[in-house]
Amino acid sequence: MKISEILKNNRCTVSFEVFPPKQWDKIESTKAVVDEMCKANPSFMSVTYGATGTKAGFTQEIAEEIKRCGVTPLSHLTCLTSTKEKVDSVVDGLKAAGVENILALRGDIPEGFVFPDEQYFEYAYQLVNEIKERGDFCIGGACYPEIHTESKNRVEDMEHLKYKVDCGLDFLTSQMFFDNEKFLDFVEMCRIKGIDVPIIAGIMPITNARQIKRSIELSNCSVPKKFYKIMERFGDDDASMLQAGIIYATEQIIDLMANGINNIHIYTMNKPAVALQIMGGLSEIIR
Ligand code: FAD
Repeated sequence: MKISEILKNNRCTVSFEVFPPKQWDKIESTKAVVDEMCKANPSFMSVTYGATGTKAGFTQEIAEEIKRCGVTPLSHLTCLTSTKEKVDSVVDGLKAAGVENILALRGDIPEGFVFPDEQYFEYAYQLVNEIKERGDFCIGGACYPEIHTESKNRVEDMEHLKYKVDCGLDFLTSQMFFDNEKFLDFVEMCRIKGIDVPIIAGIMPITNARQIKRSIELSNCSVPKKFYKIMERFGDDDASMLQAGIIYATEQIIDLMANGINNIHIYTMNKPAVALQIMGGLSEIIR
């Protein structure tokens, strides 16, 4: 099923995310994680793609497993470090496997990376155009409520986002954020700018204090005082932090839904217990 259909009916949706294994010998354990997560009946489940393209085959394998479990898969695809030929072969593989949804991404720039030549795509919008050429896919893209780290300012960021959406995106998924006001303001700015596709809110449950440091470094997203207090108080005790992180994410989702945001994507990071507990906390709300 196309995700654009799932997002159409104005009901609350909650999707999950998994990442593929680095080595083939871990494929069965990753599939077991997928099977467990599918029990919570997410609206769809996405599977990430290695920026260097090395995990390409595994992404498709996991997408196929999600489909086998009766859940709609969304396959991520990055383009920066893959040749056009490689990108085309991945897209064709997904088409042959019946995967109808692709999240078209540029990928982060590896350290010391020099853009090779015209055999490569430089930006995600070029990948969107390419995917559209190769099949009838539902295509999503990334967006950044607190501005992409490489953008000079909000105006530039919004210009590029609008251009990418106009290339034919069906929906956007946001980078994680911890302050709902940032996301709500961003959605309003998108609407003013004429970006009218569904914008799915990306929620990252922080379940240990080390993880948040790394996540903030990578994303540049702001952390509310309330969350710092939680980390200060519970960060040294893994079990307490896990519980607090799940409750914080659940509250964040409830607040977003109360503010009219229907579509939530949880960065579940191969943690079925976290996914199942958050869904448990929302059971009546999303029923
Ligand atoms: P783009 O939309 O191409 O934007 C990248 C930068 O270029 C922005 O600063 C933008 O403003 C600028 N830009 C765009 N067009 C132009 C132009 N014409 N001229 C000049 N500048 C321009 N990474 C992975 O490796 N694997 C994953 O599976 C993955 N999944 C993700 C899922 C989500 C929901 C998100 C939010 C991110 C994900 N990422 C993933 C990270 C992503 O690849 C990086 O954030 C990357 O740096 C940007 O990707 P993009 O698709 O947003 O790029």
